[in-house]
Amino acid sequence: MLTTLACPICNAEGAPAFEKFGHPICDCADCGHRYAALNTKPEGHVSTVYSNNYFNGGGAGYSDYLAEERLLRDRGKWYAKILARHAAPGSILDVGAAAGFVLQGFIDSGWTGNGIEPNETMASVARSRLGLEVWTGMIENLAGELRFDAVSMIQVLPHFVDPKHAMSVVAHILKPGGLLLIETWNRKSLTAKLMGENWHEYSPPSVLHWFDPESVNRLANPFGLSEIARGRPAKKILTSHAKSLLKHTMAGSVVGRAGLPLLGLIPDGWALPYPAEDLFYMVLRKDAQAAPGLVLS
Ligand SMILES: [Zn+2]
Repeated sequence: MLTTLACPICNAEGAPAFEKFGHPICDCADCGHRYAALNTKPEGHVSTVYSNNYFNGGGAGYSDYLAEERLLRDRGKWYAKILARHAAPGSILDVGAAAGFVLQGFIDSGWTGNGIEPNETMASVARSRLGLEVWTGMIENLAGELRFDAVSMIQVLPHFVDPKHAMSVVAHILKPGGLLLIETWNRKSLTAKLMGENWHEYSPPSVLHWFDPESVNRLANPFGLSEIARGRPAKKILTSHAKSLLKHTMAGSVVGRAGLPLLGLIPDGWALPYPAEDLFYMVLRKDAQAAPGLVLS
């Protein structure tokens, strides 16, 4: 049962465009934002979707997240180089830090930092294995006086029940002039357009929003965050993860199911360059003049 179809970005009315896995996928009639209409409270949603199964159970999530340590650490280092074009290393908060691998890549590159992660198992791996300060919890509930020079949200934004609230907190905890790094999937990409409703990112309830660079700006600009760079990430994924995602997608069709045995021929543990035509990153800077005390409801 749905309580509302209102657009979570601009509050205008949205209408279902199609349904995926039983969830209506809606388009906002005003700003064009595409989102899943869910009747879920954030706490319930997060504990259901980001259980340990998300990181180890395959499906739309990961088949074995911890096996990706090296790749994710390199990704952190790669993004540290991107941020270095705009600011000297300082303090960073990695949102949705999981086991801390991306954060470790930033730290390897001279940043100091914290992570925040709703899954306690992952956060405790970050603490015990890497010795990182990763808090268990949700950015939406972060309070206190801590302020950061940068915030990173790598493939995190589409998962928020209320992305506006999350963005208000991010804007609040960034120092004036601080950087926000976002990596997310581009629903206006050629891949997304060609795949239509079968695009891999249409996987509610794990994914709830489908952004493009313009809609990220529409979300972030009112909070005093302005785009200063965007690009396409150089990404690699393990064959084991790729196979798990393919299995999840292929199981949905007769042709796909027929091809499933072929996946068994591909060895696990190879690092594949991922074309990532449908992935983008964006760096935004908090205006030095941004109004203090942006609303934290
Ligand atoms: Zn809207």
